[in-house]
Amino acid sequence: MTQILVVEDEERIASFLTKGLKAAGFGVTWAASGSEALALAVSRSPDLVILDLGLSDLDGMTVLRRMRDGGCAAPVIILTARTSVTDTVAGLEGGADDYMTKPFRFAELLARVKLRLRLPVAADAVHPVLAAGDVQLDLATRRAFVDGAEVALSGREFDLAQALMRRPGQVLTREQLLSLVWGYDHDPGSNVVDVYLSYLRKKIGAEQIETVRGLGFRWRG
Ligand code: CA
Repeated sequence: MTQILVVEDEERIASFLTKGLKAAGFGVTWAASGSEALALAVSRSPDLVILDLGLSDLDGMTVLRRMRDGGCAAPVIILTARTSVTDTVAGLEGGADDYMTKPFRFAELLARVKLRLRLPVAADAVHPVLAAGDVQLDLATRRAFVDGAEVALSGREFDLAQALMRRPGQVLTREQLLSLVWGYDHDPGSNVVDVYLSYLRKKIGAEQIETVRGLGFRWRG
């Protein structure tokens, strides 16, 4: 049985992880502290480690470094409440393979665990896909598909499609689209929204986006 070491000092989160991983068919060992984790990494030689960075005794980064120094080569997925890029980069440079920021969906963590263990995984669990009608947007790779065929969209076109597709049937005004896609630093009097809508319609099919006279635009999908 594939063994996973869960290093997490918060019992509630540890128990949630343990239950979910066991239900998915993994063997799970829980370490409630960094020092316990270091001992278990040696005695249990886990196949994968899920490591919380915020531990009560040792810093998670120290645990990671000592684990690697001690010869533990198992993939490590970091859990962190810190959303700063610096911590993440430090974690990946320090020998982690992947990271998740709290709060996270268990399904996504499970997908990453399977990916690291080279087990089959449903692609949509890792790469969120937004789909409406015939149009699909892969939000991770920022690729767009119409009827299964890839369509090359520019960054703004992709963002515009996403803004509309996230609100199917809802009418969005030019001002709302401007602020959603271009932010607030754009001249509200410009016709940039209309220009990009016409580009987008040419690429994904004019029928996808409806003009509601005097109000704005809505995704038809
Ligand atoms: Ca913690």
